[in-house]
Amino acid sequence: MLGAGRRAFSALSRPTLRNATTSTLFQSPAALRRLLSALAILEQREGKLNTGSLSAVTAAQKLGGSVHGFVAGSSIKSVADEAAKVEGLEKVIVVDSAAYDKGLPENYAPLLVENIKKGGYTHVVAGNTAFGKNVLPRVAALLDSQQISDITAIEDDKTFVRPIYAGNAIATVESSDAVKVITVRGTAFPAAAIGGGSAAVEDGVDPKVESQTEWVSEDLATSDRPDLATAGKVVSGGRGLKSKEEFDKIMNPLADSLGAAVGASRAAVDSGYADNSLQVGQTGKVVAPQLYLAVGISGAIQHLAGMKDSKVIAAINKDADAPIFQVADVGLVGDLFEKVPELTEKLKA
Ligand SMILES: Cc1cc2nc3c(=O)[nH]c(=O)nc-3n(C[C@H](O)[C@H](O)[C@H](O)COP(=O)(O)OP(=O)(O)OC[C@H]3O[C@@H](n4cnc5c(N)ncnc54)[C@H](O)[C@@H]3O)c2cc1C
Repeated sequence: MLGAGRRAFSALSRPTLRNATTSTLFQSPAALRRLLSALAILEQREGKLNTGSLSAVTAAQKLGGSVHGFVAGSSIKSVADEAAKVEGLEKVIVVDSAAYDKGLPENYAPLLVENIKKGGYTHVVAGNTAFGKNVLPRVAALLDSQQISDITAIEDDKTFVRPIYAGNAIATVESSDAVKVITVRGTAFPAAAIGGGSAAVEDGVDPKVESQTEWVSEDLATSDRPDLATAGKVVSGGRGLKSKEEFDKIMNPLADSLGAAVGASRAAVDSGYADNSLQVGQTGKVVAPQLYLAVGISGAIQHLAGMKDSKVIAAINKDADAPIFQVADVGLVGDLFEKVPELTEKLKA
């Protein structure tokens, strides 16, 4: 066993997006709160609310003003009813149209802009998910705002904290844009709870913008295991697994014995051992589970960017000098083909 302290991982820098105007400085906090209103973009898939997108509601609430939710798609009533129960939402704006089912940015962005203008929102908040990263930049461009991406904290209504350089520096940025367009890191803002809310549901405007892009088909990896982005435990495999067959043979039983989601390094994904959707890291998903177990992963900086905020990091690697051990709370130096099946058996027992 090899234990190692977690490294202090960030340096501070404070670039400024733009100088803030001073017009709000003389408002009382209560008056300021009255002026603030945020639209939290909720995601849905096939008539089910994506609870991961409720991080946007939590972040929007931290701004201090009123918070409305927005959701669009076909047969949206059940999603709207579920969204209305989300704690902290005053209103849910709904657009019922199959044109928005797949979240194509070409028509979803103008849809959002129409509703943002109608509602006079000061902040638009979405998850830093595939959907948010796809749609929000277009929204920002149409509103002539500079998007503030992947924030991890809110200092006040115009000052936000976000990691840069794969998490090696933390930038505190200030925006003077009239409408602040923000995506939030899911691991930094827990999803708002569903249950206690009683928001009004209201029809939004539908500009029915023609999209030159047509959704044709999708090929989705399905799994009964917990969702990687929100799982409490994640076991991730790397290039050390050597092949897809070995990856599945070693990692899946380990995941099942722990009730964990499966993740992978980019090298494992690029080598075809694991599906793209399982990639953890700078260009994959950012996760912060209670337990992250890295198997046959060296710990490249781009991988660490996606998991270094996990509560407990464990690693199994045959190389005692692998960088993963510098961030691991607990490590095991050994051959994964021997150690992981042994561990899986012990966990099952
Ligand atoms: C712009 C950019 C973005 C990137 N984004 C990402 C990203 O999002 N996510 C990501 O993961 N990477 C990303 N990368 C790639 C990253 O730099 C690394 O190449 C990658 O993370 C390496 O994956 P790995 O650790 O699985 O493979 P390797 O670095 O090859 O490490 C394999 C490890 O397995 C160990 N091993 C081998 N055999 C065994 C065995 N039998 N038992 C135990 N241990 C064994 C080795 O000791 C080694 O430490 C990005 C790179 C760039 C340039």
